[in-house]
Amino acid sequence: MLFAFALSSLNIMLNQGAQGKKEMSQSERQGLLRDTADRAARYLETLDKRAVAADPDSVKTLRDNLETDLPLTGQQDDHIIDFLDTYGGPATVASAAGRYFGFVTGGALPASLAANWLANCWDQNGFSSVSSPALAAFEDTALRWLKQALGLPAPAGGALVTGATLANFTCLAAARHKVLKDAGWDVEAKGLFGAPEITVIVGEEVHSTVYKVLAMLGLGRDRVLKLPVDEQGRILSRDLPTLNGPTILCLQAGNVNSGGFDPASDLVPWAQAAGAWVHVDGAFGLWAAVSDDHKHLVAGFADADSWATDAHKWLNVPYDNGVAIVRDSDALHQAMAISAAYLPPGATRDAIEYTPDSSRRARGVDIWAALQSLGQQGLSELIGRNCRQAKTMAEELQKAGATILNDVVLNQVVFAFDDDDTTNRVIQFVQEDGTCWCGGTSWRGMAAMRISVSSWATTDEDITLSAAAIVRALDRAHQSEAAST
Ligand SMILES: *Cc1c(COP(=O)(O)O)cnc(C)c1O
Repeated sequence: MLFAFALSSLNIMLNQGAQGKKEMSQSERQGLLRDTADRAARYLETLDKRAVAADPDSVKTLRDNLETDLPLTGQQDDHIIDFLDTYGGPATVASAAGRYFGFVTGGALPASLAANWLANCWDQNGFSSVSSPALAAFEDTALRWLKQALGLPAPAGGALVTGATLANFTCLAAARHKVLKDAGWDVEAKGLFGAPEITVIVGEEVHSTVYKVLAMLGLGRDRVLKLPVDEQGRILSRDLPTLNGPTILCLQAGNVNSGGFDPASDLVPWAQAAGAWVHVDGAFGLWAAVSDDHKHLVAGFADADSWATDAHKWLNVPYDNGVAIVRDSDALHQAMAISAAYLPPGATRDAIEYTPDSSRRARGVDIWAALQSLGQQGLSELIGRNCRQAKTMAEELQKAGATILNDVVLNQVVFAFDDDDTTNRVIQFVQEDGTCWCGGTSWRGMAAMRISVSSWATTDEDITLSAAAIVRALDRAHQSEAAST
């Protein structure tokens, strides 16, 4: 007894010496995690009652309080959490609540958020099936279910990555591998120096992240062939060029402004007949596949060779979660393999052989939990509801004098008012008002506002309140124009 006491006080002394603070007891750790969970729940409960935009004063206070030097000694853990809650939370954008319509932003489904917390406690390294057999199992199931939900081929390979940008990267690395291999070139071994040229084709309305990815892959931003698009930003399938040599065609399922889909049923057969690889950027649009009322939009896309999508947008899982699916699993494997001595796939999949990452977090858990919590019906209902809400929003805005610039086929609404100046003022006034948040964009040469309805948390009442707030902002813009003339 006495001996045990002496040992444990020695232990405390040693720990104090090593860390500058006392080792945490089980009950202290439990208290810290419980207190954090309480604070987190309170944050979400009160989110609906504050302005959606980040409060500039709170951001300034946060920055001022962060202007300290690296502390010499460790701080108390409960003080660290208190600091986050006191200064961090109020400076956030309320994108987890239902009236944030900027970019394409999903919320985090409660089950997925909670699963993400628990998996962080597990603190597993998901790079291989040895480093974490459990994560490998969740990831296998998540990928299988994602392919099932999106109507993509079951044998296809896949990778869970940080977002659609890295999903585009992963897919296009597999494409680069395959089209050059077919031309007798091993790009992973020899790089692009002296390689046969690859023709990369995109639509004029391709997402900016695809250009970034082409730059990262040595395929070049500027040497792409750009196909003209229609008024919805969709590639025109007439007067298509003749293709020859290694070719990669990038299609889009869901234009970030209009929600428009390239005509895959025309373009995929055209490109594949010439031996080209067809890649689909479907960051949010691919999810149309789960809704009976919207799946006609993805007709023909499942015949492509690779697909990039996001889970942190419309599947409503926490950041960072993107998905790359590649029909030719071997091409993905060879493009991402850790070792030059290519090993045939083993009985269990090691993520490091299929993703740009090595050490990585438990993305499969977040995605598994979201799909488990929604089920096919819930997922379909979520996508359908957001699309219906986008339509309602467009109708309300049109009644108030907005010009709706797109066919509202999905969850995106892009619109403008009398002129660029008025539109820009409305955007500013909406953001100041704080009821909802939408951002500006440029669409077909004019200033426009954009709404993306992508969150499980958005209720029909949120749509009504937000439409009214935009109309109020328009009134204010008209008054300020009248005052200045
Ligand atoms: C959001 C988006 C991307 C980039 O996705 P991240 O998750 O931000 O990396 C790419 N393409 C489209 C069409 C998008 O909407």
